[in-house]
Amino acid sequence: MLIASIWILSVHYGHAQDFGYDGEKGPSHWGEQYNSCAGKHQSPININSLDVKKVNLPPLALVGFDVAPRETNLTNNGHTVVVTMDSEVTPTVSGGPLSGVYEYSQLHFHWGDNDTFGSEDMIDNHRFPMELHVVFFKQEYKSAKSALNHPDGLTVLAFFFEIAPDDSPMYEEFIALLNNVTESHQSARFDTPPTLQDLIADDLVHYYTYNGSLTTPPCSEVVTWIDFKEPILLSHAQVQAFRALQDEHNTPLTHNFRPVQPLGDRVVLYNTDELIKEVDLEKDLPPAVVEDILDTNRIDGAPSASESSASKTTTKRPSSRENGASTIQSYGTLPIVMVLMAVLAVTAARGTAC
Ligand SMILES: [Zn+2]
Repeated sequence: MLIASIWILSVHYGHAQDFGYDGEKGPSHWGEQYNSCAGKHQSPININSLDVKKVNLPPLALVGFDVAPRETNLTNNGHTVVVTMDSEVTPTVSGGPLSGVYEYSQLHFHWGDNDTFGSEDMIDNHRFPMELHVVFFKQEYKSAKSALNHPDGLTVLAFFFEIAPDDSPMYEEFIALLNNVTESHQSARFDTPPTLQDLIADDLVHYYTYNGSLTTPPCSEVVTWIDFKEPILLSHAQVQAFRALQDEHNTPLTHNFRPVQPLGDRVVLYNTDELIKEVDLEKDLPPAVVEDILDTNRIDGAPSASESSASKTTTKRPSSRENGASTIQSYGTLPIVMVLMAVLAVTAARGTAC
């Protein structure tokens, strides 16, 4: 366990480690040296959005995410770039699937050789170009080291990235500082430390959660994963800047993600605030369909007898249903049977994904 603790400290505090992502030190060999890496509850996984359990968990409580740290440092540890903060208020997270309060430890990233892959967890076999892991340890265990002795020791807030046309201003200084940590073990300090809130997505309600492991040796199965659905947007140039970093052998650190592991007997939960509304919606669907069809068949835009009740129905609907309604509207000149098929398709999609 002492060895494990040393390794986890190195993983979370930026020291050198004896593993890689290619060849003899690559992920397929990790299990030879670290038993847990061959465990049954490993991360990352592919999340099949058709095979999740929808839940309404208590809200996540984030404390100190909006407080600017006194000092924030960026370090290339040879495997990723790690951000550590010295803050008056140590950020914590509780609620959601968590029991107890979890304290911020560090954050880091995983990325790929190009924009078509790089994230660790996958959604419906889709890899995102990059993934952010914000790591917390359970406060009652005092440290990340002792938290490793407990199956609920760590939680990681995971955010996927997608490519946007424009640079993200929130990541501007971050990306600029990457130039100062190109080589392994180099560190740089932020002039204007970002808050945690600056670096993550806005929607903290919709997420997948499951029990898994560290995605690097020693692969300890102590992590409650919380994967947020809303991606963070960076430009291609901003993501490309990560690929300029070098590992301990001064070779380009172009990919640092572990392949997905078997889900096994685990169940992935999907948290949404729309579950109750959706149950109501199913009951409401037939009259709503009728109203939509009636509206769709008005060709001149003149008010119809059904308009006031149709509008009222729409305001009750969650946003996904509103999208469905606008889809129906676009079928204005199609036969009614086609409209019904479209409605059924939209309903099926909404019921399985979000
Ligand atoms: Zn990670």
